[in-house]
Amino acid sequence: MKVLIVGGGPTGLTAALELARRGLHAKVIDRRDSTSTLSRAVGITSRSLELLSHSGVAEKLIEEGVAVRSACIYLGNRLALELPLHSGRIYFPTILGLPQDRTEAIMANRLKGWGVEVGYQIELQGLREEPNGVVALFSEGTEERFDLIIGADGVRSTVRKAAGIAYPGFDLEDRWSIADVDTEGWPPREKFTLVKASSGIVAVAVPIGEDRHRLVASCDNAIGAFPMGLKVRKIYREGTFKISVRQAESYSKGRICLAGDAAHCHSPVGGRGMNLGIADAAELAKRVVDGSLAGYSEFRHREDKKVMDITERGRKMISGKSLKARLEFRALLALANSLPALKRKLGQFAVEF
Ligand SMILES: Cc1cc2nc3c(=O)[nH]c(=O)nc-3n(C[C@H](O)[C@H](O)[C@H](O)COP(=O)(O)OP(=O)(O)OC[C@H]3O[C@@H](n4cnc5c(N)ncnc54)[C@H](O)[C@@H]3O)c2cc1C
Repeated sequence: MKVLIVGGGPTGLTAALELARRGLHAKVIDRRDSTSTLSRAVGITSRSLELLSHSGVAEKLIEEGVAVRSACIYLGNRLALELPLHSGRIYFPTILGLPQDRTEAIMANRLKGWGVEVGYQIELQGLREEPNGVVALFSEGTEERFDLIIGADGVRSTVRKAAGIAYPGFDLEDRWSIADVDTEGWPPREKFTLVKASSGIVAVAVPIGEDRHRLVASCDNAIGAFPMGLKVRKIYREGTFKISVRQAESYSKGRICLAGDAAHCHSPVGGRGMNLGIADAAELAKRVVDGSLAGYSEFRHREDKKVMDITERGRKMISGKSLKARLEFRALLALANSLPALKRKLGQFAVEF
């Protein structure tokens, strides 16, 4: 079977790895110049590590990443709750912090071992369905016929648009910000930090290396959003982004399948975006090889929807600015503090969901 994967992000690379280890070498293209240098997703779940263990990628990720031991939740300057992030029921007991560019580099390197390399500076411009295949139209003016095309080409997916698959949902008004920084003294390494300021603004710090953190906040300035102040030694990257919550109405149409951001996007609360893409891609590759592609769309649509719904509930609870939302959040923290079993369960849920 001749397969084209459009997009060399974490989803496309996972699909290529999972096909390659089963003996199917796909063509992978990306319009970028080379591998990404952007550290977008920084949390890798146990489920992703388990899926990536079959290709030998997981052990390399674990070697480089930071195992996040607990989540510290602050109300203003006050530490209101520390949740142990741990589950004994899964492949890796907690969340792994690692910048996305490193994850992608490790995946691409492993892929090379199977003789598959991403073809950079090749853009898919359109598709033409024919009775015996689907023809991909490339930026160089060339075209090639495939049995299957996997659209792992991100939120603005050309594949999705060319296939005429709708991407319903909504865009949130708020602007959020991120910064990747080296800090001194605080926040602690190996802990995830969430601060809810009295203004209602939420600021998060995820450890991604020695003294290095990814900061995210529900305002324009992630570094300034921590009420206790941060000693920042070096800023690697700063930016703002808006959140959309969308899911493709179907993940497949004829000989075309979607996976990753091409199929869904949601808020970074919970850090599941890249992880859902890895799960889509692994499932898709398995089905391509065992001939059960027909059930792919329905299965992954349902699984992703469950996680997206939890993520949306989490976003509303954490970043809600109304008095009611703030009181509910405080009440949950107080309850978890007084009930060790609930505290354990919440930490376990945060790792497993
Ligand atoms: C600021 C920010 C912070 C984030 N933080 C987190 C986080 O903490 N945790 C998390 O899990 N997720 C996070 N995400 C989301 C995460 O980055 C995405 O879910 C993930 O990158 C999706 O991977 P993907 O491979 O599906 O798509 P992408 O990573 O977008 O890759 C798509 C690739 O397709 C290529 N492409 C697009 N169109 C074409 C074309 N026509 N022809 C050829 N190539 C094409 C692009 O160049 C790109 O390389 C964050 C995102 C952002 C923007």
